[in-house]
Amino acid sequence: MPKAQETVLEIDLKALTHNFQYLKSKLKNNTKVLAVVKAFAYGSDACEIAKHLQGLNVDYFAVAYVDEGVALRNAGVTKPILVLHPISVNFESLIEYNLEPNLYSAKILEAFIKVAEAENQTHYPVHIKFNTGLNRLGFEEKDIDFIIKKLSETKAVKVTSLFSHMAASEDLKEKDFTLNQIETFKICANEMKKLLGYSPMLHMCNTSGILNYPEAHFDMVRTGIGLYGFGNSIEESKHLKPIATLKTIISQIHNIEEGESVGYNRAFISNSITRTATLPLGHADGISRIYGKGKGFVTIQGKKAPIAGNVCMDMIMVDVTNIDCEEGDEVIVFGPETVTAETLAESAKTISYELITAISQRVKRIIIK
Ligand SMILES: *Cc1c(COP(=O)(O)O)cnc(C)c1O
Repeated sequence: MPKAQETVLEIDLKALTHNFQYLKSKLKNNTKVLAVVKAFAYGSDACEIAKHLQGLNVDYFAVAYVDEGVALRNAGVTKPILVLHPISVNFESLIEYNLEPNLYSAKILEAFIKVAEAENQTHYPVHIKFNTGLNRLGFEEKDIDFIIKKLSETKAVKVTSLFSHMAASEDLKEKDFTLNQIETFKICANEMKKLLGYSPMLHMCNTSGILNYPEAHFDMVRTGIGLYGFGNSIEESKHLKPIATLKTIISQIHNIEEGESVGYNRAFISNSITRTATLPLGHADGISRIYGKGKGFVTIQGKKAPIAGNVCMDMIMVDVTNIDCEEGDEVIVFGPETVTAETLAESAKTISYELITAISQRVKRIIIK
């Protein structure tokens, strides 16, 4: 790997292939895989990731919002794309770009049917979501008669899948709760299939669900974080490879006398002679202020350098007193080996999902094939 000369996020497509194959090895041969590429593929590069997965013959994609799906279509993604959280105002472009909505409430179902009819659609693919305990989006079992009535009154849409989402698939202490969610989903799905007179695909598992609840794989699974190399436990993460490495360089080194301060609000006060390195990476790049004041750290020459004082918009200063380094040297913020995004996230009591999705679009992405 060439040394970094500026702040970059390297994305390793070989690691992505590995994670995809590993997750697939946990499935029956005919279980389909939906790759969740919302939020720029968890802060990496949605178009590059989706095109690579399309090449590996993934079955489906999901994004959160319509514009994310439009970007994939414009990049040449042709596989079906489920929009997990469509908003009515975007329904016309959803149809124009052949994206498939999650219909999760009476209001959204009625609104979508209206637009699909106005655009003379027949059997437009839609997905119906059931709330089985997450209490975020989704219909309840008691709504089934209403859903069936609305669907029977129109030819504009056809149900491609029925799905639900687990609230605590990573937490085995909540196993009873999850098993109850699975049972509730089965009841809703069976009732729907009976009344529809055909069998849409069923899906429920996210990454941790795939690994912890093989009995709930149904026809398809939805994986996000696993593709990007993280599980929700040490055991899960063991077989996965983080695909992204965030690197930067040392812009300047300062020698700080005892009693001097570093950065805004003088949040770091030196109590002995200290050497600091200033890095071109700040909260506008996704390193939140929470990581400041010694909580977060980077790796230079294989050694930990804690963040000194407050994180600035475009810079952080790190303590390199005990590290033999110079201006221009490469700095690893997180990567597959030294310090993973999971470890760094833990230093600020958050999770890998939050850290990796926060890496802003200002950081140049480099795709490694
Ligand atoms: C984000 C999301 C997923 C992916 O979850 P991971 O834990 O990242 O695998 C799956 N399903 C839905 C509905 C989601 O919103």
